[in-house]
Amino acid sequence: MRFLADMSKAEMESWAERSGLPAYRGRQIFSWIGRGAACFGEMTDIPASLRDALERGRATVAGAGGEAGAGAHGAAGADALDAATGAGDSGAPGAAAGAAGVAAMAAPGASVDPGASAAPKSNVSFGWPGLADARGAASATGAAWAGGADVAAGGTGIPAIAGVYPSRRDETVKYAFRTWDGNIIESVLMKYRHGYTACVSSQAGCRMGCAFCASVPAAFSRSLSPGEMLGQVAAIGRASGAPVSRVVVMGIGEPFDNYDSTLKFAALLHEHGEIGIGYRKLTISTCGHLPGIRRLAGEGLPIGLSVSLHAPNDAIRSSLMPINRKYSIDKLIEGCKIYTYATKRRITFEYALIGGVNDSPGSARELAGRLRGMLCHVNLIPVNRTERSAFAPPPGSVVSAFADALRRGGIEATVRRELGADVMAACGQLRNSLPGGAPGNGL
Ligand code: SF4
Repeated sequence: MRFLADMSKAEMESWAERSGLPAYRGRQIFSWIGRGAACFGEMTDIPASLRDALERGRATVAGAGGEAGAGAHGAAGADALDAATGAGDSGAPGAAAGAAGVAAMAAPGASVDPGASAAPKSNVSFGWPGLADARGAASATGAAWAGGADVAAGGTGIPAIAGVYPSRRDETVKYAFRTWDGNIIESVLMKYRHGYTACVSSQAGCRMGCAFCASVPAAFSRSLSPGEMLGQVAAIGRASGAPVSRVVVMGIGEPFDNYDSTLKFAALLHEHGEIGIGYRKLTISTCGHLPGIRRLAGEGLPIGLSVSLHAPNDAIRSSLMPINRKYSIDKLIEGCKIYTYATKRRITFEYALIGGVNDSPGSARELAGRLRGMLCHVNLIPVNRTERSAFAPPPGSVVSAFADALRRGGIEATVRRELGADVMAACGQLRNSLPGGAPGNGL
């Protein structure tokens, strides 16, 4: 099962036709979703009677992958990281798994299955069960339920904005979203010299367990669907009015732990002309998920790649990032070289400078030696404080000395401006709860 926001334009046309509607209605809905419409009532070029029908009972699509339910990674088991990083396990299967069978969640007594292609238009009806019935049915089948009171009226699958937190120090704005099943996810709008960048989450929680990050693994709930990722961009653009010109998948979650949905999201973003973010304006950030890097290298897409390195050697990196115990720095760098070779795109290595841990002159020299000759750039980030760790950023003089040492070693390096730290919107500070302590998952 998946949501309308998860569909490509062609899938939406097919859905419309299978629902007994002309294909152009699908294109109209597709366009509205790109503009951030959270409910059918906003789609003013669609007849009121049809909007009303869609509002009251949305059709859902069954049988294709890329869905939130199948994308959910149970964190149970002794080695969640192994499960998360093993070959072929990344995310929901087969997002482009061909034509979906359309099935209405028919209300008791509903007369027609919109999925029946022979259904005459005049007999098409939409309907959905009440909240309790639907949740019961979903849990009985193990499927995700695609509608309900938590979704903004007659929802399209776009998560609803649950909070807006503008920084008082800069123009950064953090957005909290509530998904259809009550998860809270966070996104950030940042202003740079080149324009506005939206940073979106790929999972509700994260299983990677990086020591400096507020997205605690214990709170992992599930992976997000492509539409839930797209919805963050569309809703931020709409709510802020800002011309978002770049998107980074650098919020909560490891995107390659949700590979298929992330790739479908990239395709949707590219296709939605209203949003205007092609592959080149998208950057995916990974903590070092090597199978994901290799797989993306083989896609032939000019997507930017950012890799959280944070250490010059395995000893330090393994102490900060459990994934390094599975994929060593040597293997990771090798995978990154393959990526640059395949895409001709420069990789950005993120390096959070942590006082007394990875900020020594020796670390800088070791890092420069490791990266020499690569098509890359190092982004130094004085670590941001979180409730979860005692890590503190080094003094500014140490940060500057580290950057200079990298440059002397032939590595391009910049120091990232701290944006949005006062609203916990900076790197490593995002979490799946509302500010004030309300839990995010399982509400
Ligand atoms: S830094 Fe990224 S990959 Fe690591 S725990 Fe946090 S969200 Fe997950």
